[in-house]
Amino acid sequence: MSEQTVSPGATAKAAALTSSKTSPVMRQYLEIKGSHEDAVLFFRLGDFYEMVFDDAEQASSILDIALTSRNKNDEHPIPMCGVPYHSARNYVARLLDAGVKVAICEQMELPQRGIARRQVTRVITPGTSLDEEALAPERGNYIACVVRSSAGWGLARADFSTGELRVTELGGRAALHDAVEGLAPSELLVEAAAGDAEGDAAEVHALRELLPRCLVTERERRAKLEVSPTTAALLDGADMPGGCRDAVRMLLGYIDETQGGRTAHLRAPEYLESSGFLKIDRATRRNLEIVESVEGGRRGSLLGAIDGSITPMGKRMVREWLLAPLTDLEAIGERLDAVELFVGDTTLATDLREALRGVGDLERLGGRLGTGTAGARDLLRLADALDAVEQTRGFLDAAVVAVEDRPVGLVRRAAADLDPQGPVRDLVRRAIADEPPLSVGKGVTIRDGYHDEVDRLRSIRSDGKGWMTGFEAGERARTGIPKLKVGYNKVFGYYIEVSRAAQDRVPDEYERKQTLANAERYITPELKKREAELLGAEERLASLENHLLSEVLDRVAAEIPVIARTSTALALLDALAGMADTAYRCGFVRPDVCRDGALEIEEGRHPVVEAALGSRFVPNDCRLGPDGHRVMVITGPNMAGKSTYLRQVALVALLAHCGSFVPATSARIPLVDRIFTRIGASDNLARGQSTFMVEMTETANILTTMTDRSLVVLDEIGRGTSTFDGISIAWAVAEAMVREGVKTLFATHYHELAGLAGEHDCVGNYSVAVRRYKGDVVFLYRVVEGATSGSYGIEVARLAGVPEEVIDDARRMLARFESGAPTVTPTGEFQPNLFAAAEIAAGSAGAQPAAAENSGVAELHDLADRLVEVDSDRLTPLDALNVLAELVRAARSSRSC
Ligand code: ADP
Repeated sequence: MSEQTVSPGATAKAAALTSSKTSPVMRQYLEIKGSHEDAVLFFRLGDFYEMVFDDAEQASSILDIALTSRNKNDEHPIPMCGVPYHSARNYVARLLDAGVKVAICEQMELPQRGIARRQVTRVITPGTSLDEEALAPERGNYIACVVRSSAGWGLARADFSTGELRVTELGGRAALHDAVEGLAPSELLVEAAAGDAEGDAAEVHALRELLPRCLVTERERRAKLEVSPTTAALLDGADMPGGCRDAVRMLLGYIDETQGGRTAHLRAPEYLESSGFLKIDRATRRNLEIVESVEGGRRGSLLGAIDGSITPMGKRMVREWLLAPLTDLEAIGERLDAVELFVGDTTLATDLREALRGVGDLERLGGRLGTGTAGARDLLRLADALDAVEQTRGFLDAAVVAVEDRPVGLVRRAAADLDPQGPVRDLVRRAIADEPPLSVGKGVTIRDGYHDEVDRLRSIRSDGKGWMTGFEAGERARTGIPKLKVGYNKVFGYYIEVSRAAQDRVPDEYERKQTLANAERYITPELKKREAELLGAEERLASLENHLLSEVLDRVAAEIPVIARTSTALALLDALAGMADTAYRCGFVRPDVCRDGALEIEEGRHPVVEAALGSRFVPNDCRLGPDGHRVMVITGPNMAGKSTYLRQVALVALLAHCGSFVPATSARIPLVDRIFTRIGASDNLARGQSTFMVEMTETANILTTMTDRSLVVLDEIGRGTSTFDGISIAWAVAEAMVREGVKTLFATHYHELAGLAGEHDCVGNYSVAVRRYKGDVVFLYRVVEGATSGSYGIEVARLAGVPEEVIDDARRMLARFESGAPTVTPTGEFQPNLFAAAEIAAGSAGAQPAAAENSGVAELHDLADRLVEVDSDRLTPLDALNVLAELVRAARSSRSC
């Protein structure tokens, strides 16, 4: 590092480390900071957290607070800044947001002689934050850990706010990246690259690139072995591959280290077999806008359209389900049964959802209890939530009994897991006052009548005032001083004030304490005794309340596993009832999910587009394999609805695998192992890849990973290059789909690809119907069998407002191309006739006759309607000629408009 890059803070720190003049507090600071180099140290001094040296420079710039300095005249002044301890939360949240960890160093005792003992009580990191206001309620806040394993990678992840801990093993780098990106952790631990392992360094770099908003921390390999006995116990008996075990150990080791052992809420790790889930790669997740729209956020995403759950944990669960649909028929069937139960019994669903409104985020409440950050208000929330649990359980028990003949195992098991915990609720209601303050001592925390000593201390406090008045009256009578007053101030406590004029009547036992201009103040042993009692009561009351609150919290914390089980069951019920609500409101049906066979969707809809368009949305069927067409080649102009159709088929399949009802009138969905999509052009200029390169990378990924159980959706292949290249690539890719027997939807504007159908029975040509009307195209959004031969690009350009003269020029150019005349490009290059060339490319097998030629499908229907009316048996030759002329006229006029 060059001299200029060392900040004044770092220089001052280096100087302080060696100087003999460094103060004892500063020495203490330096020692503590030494073991928390990677965090900003919040060093408690009185009512402030102070930051010094380079921490101060960094924090003041992120937090936009004043940077001051100590020992200004020294050779190396010490940069400093500070935040009040009571508003620290806000500042911590902002530092975390900037990807900075914060070590909280507290004063552990009142300073006796010398300096107070200080200690880091907790390191707050983006992945271990418990700040309710900073965490998004609708998604988990994950801290993940990646470790190499014999089979590839172990990926462990914890949501520290809820205690959930899961681990899985992933076969390859692509799978790891897909999984990690889907998880979107806010913090990721990776093994530090060993000195010579360039490969490892590249991996770390790739992960950092993949997750630009995530704090990536490198950990020494040996760190994964160091976990506390309590967390090690979590791993006892867990059956999982070695790599997964290592990942969990490394993750738990880090949590132990940063959280000071406050991990009572962490659950035993759940090992997830990666084959149990439908794989969705990053591109597909983005293309299908599963949990986030392209603009970012839930709005406009599948999640936004279908999630009907009420509680934050239900919402988190639905999100998880969409990101990791199931591949196990039985598990899918169980969810579908449950959704069906709720769709069929709207009273139950309504009651249940009403009760769930009172639950709040019970899961994260469990997290606060486990980390010792819960307070009296949390206890009241817990009691309210448990009331709602009791209600929920009541509704379910009745309903489940009523449907004993139906398979609703999932609901039955969830209902059994709901534990309303009567004793805990009673305890909380008995012990905690109705409106407790945020911190003990600032109001009434413990309810009257819960504890005798609390009641006694409170009565001393409230009697205090009455006693003083009585005492004052008694003293006035005894001394005969009518203006004698009893008062209180902070310095002298309670006193008796007698005016100067009445001094001669002051009894001997009064002890003078203070002289004022016109009066003297006195104390008496009796007054002082009462004062001590009063002030002591106040103090004792606060500490007793604190103690009793801790007792209740400890008692409740013992129930954390039960609370966790209950909240998981609530999340499940909420997710299922929410799906049922959406299904009911939006007219979804139960899909028939089966092991294999054809994929058949009748009147399928795109849930997001439908939500925007309402009844204007045109539903479409889809039939894929095994005996019908397995590859659909879909042509049609831009804006005709091809992408929407492609996505809706993929989304219906995906929803079915989540155990959700689907937007269709009926659906039969065979199990799929992966859904791939290649949609639209997404430039990744940040990574220096061109559109075409991105497109080909995605295509390569599909071709190398797809199986005959995959569903592949390709929306335009080969656009980013020359037409010949493009057609050739598109053709060859489609051929590969045919060879592998993959269910494929292939939308293309290369209508030449219609020729494929002539070569393979499993390929079918389809198009999205459009109609020409007075020179414009009218989109019908209906997918019909048969290809279009025109791309209508010029008409769409006209619709988009391209000036008429440009449109006319384009038409003339098109006519020349179509006539087969060679043209010369603006750069003078010779350009052969594209269409003739494409026909050669398509081979002599001949394209399937284009069902809708230029005039489009709708015109054909009109002509056919006219023909149906003709009674050919009775037609005279002249009539026949007239009909023919009429048809020719109609056909011509439809073409020319
Ligand atoms: P393409 O992929 O053919 O260019 P899109 O699928 O992007 O076309 O659809 C263009 C627009 O057409 C959509 O934004 C939507 O408003 C409308 N649209 C698509 N499909 C339908 C449909 N089935 N019913 C009604 N409108 C639709």
